[in-house]
Amino acid sequence: MEVKNVKGTKDLYGEEVTNFNYIEGVMSSVSSLFGFKEMRPPVLEHSEVFVRGVGEGSDVVRKEMYTFLDKGERSLTLRPEFTAGIMRLIVQNKLYATEPLPIKAFYMGPVFRYERPQLGRYRQFNQFGVECVGGSSLYHDVEVILLGYCILNTLGLENVTLKINTLGDDESRNNYRQALKDFFKDKIEGMCEDCKSRYEINPLRILDCKVPEDQEIVKDAPKMMNYLSLESKQRFDQVLGQLEMLNIPFEVDDNLVRGLDYYSETVFEFHYTSKKGVNYGAIGAGGHYDKLIAEFGGPELPGVGFSFGIERVASILKDDELNIPDENVMISILPMKAEYNSQAAQFALSLRLNGYSAEVNYDGGKVASMIKRAVRIGAKVALIIGEDEVKNGTIVVKNLESGEQQNVELNKLNEALDAILQKDECDDPNCGCHEHEDDECCHEHHHHDGECCHHQNKDK
Ligand code: AMP
Repeated sequence: MEVKNVKGTKDLYGEEVTNFNYIEGVMSSVSSLFGFKEMRPPVLEHSEVFVRGVGEGSDVVRKEMYTFLDKGERSLTLRPEFTAGIMRLIVQNKLYATEPLPIKAFYMGPVFRYERPQLGRYRQFNQFGVECVGGSSLYHDVEVILLGYCILNTLGLENVTLKINTLGDDESRNNYRQALKDFFKDKIEGMCEDCKSRYEINPLRILDCKVPEDQEIVKDAPKMMNYLSLESKQRFDQVLGQLEMLNIPFEVDDNLVRGLDYYSETVFEFHYTSKKGVNYGAIGAGGHYDKLIAEFGGPELPGVGFSFGIERVASILKDDELNIPDENVMISILPMKAEYNSQAAQFALSLRLNGYSAEVNYDGGKVASMIKRAVRIGAKVALIIGEDEVKNGTIVVKNLESGEQQNVELNKLNEALDAILQKDECDDPNCGCHEHEDDECCHEHHHHDGECCHHQNKDK
């Protein structure tokens, strides 16, 4: 029996899971600030959803889907992306009729593509993305780009390049497609096999070809900008103008066409080069679409969205040594004899009820190795229960970072733990949180000018 993981999949455990949770947490909370709410479509859909939604001309549908017949002979597919499933969800549940427009959704989870596995490219990977459906203003395009930018900023990514282009409306794209066909007509024979089929299905995708010889030819191809209808050109100029107003740096990239067939007007990608100079390529991408909701039988509603690859963002955070806050304030309880296990279990429960994360070493051993283990699991404090402590109604509280330890009466335990674990006491004399003896500290950091941010936020 094969006991290895499937090629192109990845086991996530330990720190990687912490990092994923952190990234997804930041992405969802920033999206919530923009008014987006989570949707969870199923991983499995009828294959038709993606054939219709992503488009028969896309590499994803032509070559990369995990499609199979289930026991009832239905053709099902593991989602290769989220957008089509979200559109199906919106139409099937008639959200366009029951919910206020635009519908603003975020999503996260695994997606599956049969690609050649390589660094940063897997067959099962995770995406986080958003869709804003049913608002026709170009400001929604800008808002979604801004959201992507804010997410990356909040994660601390500094070298983000936003590449942006427009695919124009139907008229612009038809004209451009024809111009490309004319241009490539006598060149396509000498180009790669992929380009040959792209020539037939969607010549715009030839611009995306990564084969160096083909890229040389592509350099001289006609530019989209020269085939834009007046409306599309004005729309794109306004989008760029608004990005400038918001101080979001961007590069217009004529060759950016995106691999999925459904886009029109604005398309964009977030690229990244790490501090050490590693080029991660696109870490997130998206664009505007007009026909997807109608494709699933709903009304003609425009939309705009993007998705980030979580694996790529996680490697960047590691590469750039960006701090991922350590939320683990684990307390490890060390009963020195098995007969103290029951008491330790009760301690652990009461600590957990007080909001601490606590565990008990029920398996005994020498005190030094128990402490070593506590440090390895990331505990900040060890509580040692020995014979003397049981006799005297005390407990040893050991700060595992400083190594200091003290014998504490049980009714003073919470105070002792607070002193070790909540060091960020408010030091603003004007804050007022310590005015009365029994007041709890606000535990907020304060601005340099001495103003209390806690109270500032409250006042807003
Ligand atoms: P797409 O849905 O193709 O626009 O991809 C959106 C993002 O998902 C990309 O920018 C990548 O960060 C990520 N991504 C796409 N394909 C893969 C893959 N095979 N493995 C890991 N991440 C991927």
